[in-house]
Amino acid sequence: MFKPGEIVPESGIYECECGQRHRYSSDVRGHRFPPPYEGCTGTGWKIITPAHD
Ligand SMILES: [Zn+2]
Repeated sequence: MFKPGEIVPESGIYECECGQRHRYSSDVRGHRFPPPYEGCTGTGWKIITPAHD
């Protein structure tokens, strides 16, 4: 699991661990994970769909 502010190690779709299905997709490796969305109780992001080049 990745914390907000950490570098995105691989492109794909990430979902936060709060169970509310907040998602963040990045097609560019090297961006940073965003902070949790408003109302989100999660603390990190996990990858659910890796993208393959
Ligand atoms: Zn969330």
